[in-house]
Amino acid sequence: MDIPKEIQNISQKLADAGYKAYLVGGCTRDLLLGKAPNDWDIATDAKPEEIQGLFKDAFYENEFGTVGVKSGSEDPTLKVVEVTTFRKEGRYTDKRHPDEVVFAKTIEDDLSRRDFTINAIAIDLVESEEPIDPFGGRDDLSKKIIKAVGNPKERFGEDALRLMRAVRLSAQLGFQIEERTLEAIKKEVKSIGNIALERVRDEFSKLLMSDGAMDGVRVLQKTGLLDQIIPELSEGIGVEQNKHHIYDVFEHNVHSLEYAVGKNFPLDLRLASLLHDVGKVGTREWRNNPRGEKMKGGKKGDWTFYQHQYLGEKLSRDILNRLRYPKEVIKRVALLIREHMFVYDPEMVTEKGVRRLVRRVGEENVDALIKVREADRIGSGVPKAQPYRLRHLQAMIEKAKKEPVGVGQLKVDGNLLIKELKMEPGPRMGEILVILLEEVIDDPKRNTKKYLMDRAKELNALSDVQLDVFSKRAREAAKEEQKRLDDAIKEKYFVK
Ligand code: ATP
Ligand code: MG
Repeated sequence: MDIPKEIQNISQKLADAGYKAYLVGGCTRDLLLGKAPNDWDIATDAKPEEIQGLFKDAFYENEFGTVGVKSGSEDPTLKVVEVTTFRKEGRYTDKRHPDEVVFAKTIEDDLSRRDFTINAIAIDLVESEEPIDPFGGRDDLSKKIIKAVGNPKERFGEDALRLMRAVRLSAQLGFQIEERTLEAIKKEVKSIGNIALERVRDEFSKLLMSDGAMDGVRVLQKTGLLDQIIPELSEGIGVEQNKHHIYDVFEHNVHSLEYAVGKNFPLDLRLASLLHDVGKVGTREWRNNPRGEKMKGGKKGDWTFYQHQYLGEKLSRDILNRLRYPKEVIKRVALLIREHMFVYDPEMVTEKGVRRLVRRVGEENVDALIKVREADRIGSGVPKAQPYRLRHLQAMIEKAKKEPVGVGQLKVDGNLLIKELKMEPGPRMGEILVILLEEVIDDPKRNTKKYLMDRAKELNALSDVQLDVFSKRAREAAKEEQKRLDDAIKEKYFVK
């Protein structure tokens, strides 16, 4: 077996001092699967202080008797090796942490506290490299199943994070969850509420970043876990859409995620793809018949989802806040969802409109926005998803990016206004710059020092009230453009 020399050095040092050393957990599982482990764990009968005595810059990793040993490796997966004293399962009263850490005498005891059989295999690093596999983990690896060690209901009852771990591992490995284990998950779903949301989030992110993310989200839904963590998503089940879609809202979101996974999008774009239509459930109305009476016939047809992107923006912010995602992630995902309905029909898009889109979304987000819309289109399952039309828009965006879309790109700036027009820095000057920008977005040819200085002089001569009216109008103009497009798309697709 291919054990890195850093691991061999650590186990040799333990062995020389008379201790045992086993490779355990995810790294053993991954090695047996022929995959590269993403971290390395060693279990030993040495006590934490004894481990620290052997390795000079070792440090306590957590309160469970784990010591981090620096291996000197540059490889991030090997840099710090976790060395943990054999433990037994303590008593759990909070479904979250063992009440106390109880050290065990043997590796078998240590394996029996581990979550799933495939994670409960040890490799003896000192003696034989022969796997120690008391729960049939290798058999389950070859059968591709996730099965709890011991009584599944009890095991989930001890630590509810295992519920998420089971689903995440099944998505990462492409394994099925064994029947009794799956039944136990369904029975225990409510206890996920005892787990810190950051820890739930980390498992959810790992699930989303795996190739099996789409199946993972479906398993979360089928077990009832999704109802516990993101009920807004499972509410899309059975919510039928109009004739432009073949899937219900939930399936559409999941298929959009599938596209994002296939394109190896980063986490924020996977989140945006998965959540982009969460606002549809709360905005659905029957066309020309807000009470939905026609639906009695059960026919699929003219559903409208006016303004669902704004509700989606709000809901996605709620969801990601709840799961404690970082502020930048929340901001970006919410923005992408709010803007995902932009118009890209060649016959409706104007250059001016595209410049305003780039300004509103920000140059740094506009490519991501196109990607989310692609995920949306392909995820609708309708053959005429026509991504080539998006390419047309993309070309226009590239052009728009070369034109000024922000105050910073104007040929005049505050300093110049102060120097040459003796303007006072302050809100009036800010308003003047906003008006100038709107005029340049309307017509980029106006972006010359001469035009803008003349205009600034005129504007500066206005009273506060008059200037205020002008700048409000300029801001409204940006919204007007969007409204015109909103109305156009409403006519065409009746979805907005
Ligand atoms: P990853 O590939 O993400 O590292 P992993 O299975 O190695 O997956 P770790 O968090 O590194 O996950 O945990 C290492 C090992 O510790 C697991 O393989 C398992 O044996 C055990 N373990 C981790 N979390 C739990 C838990 N909540 N309950 C029981 N055993 C656990
Ligand atoms: Mg691991």
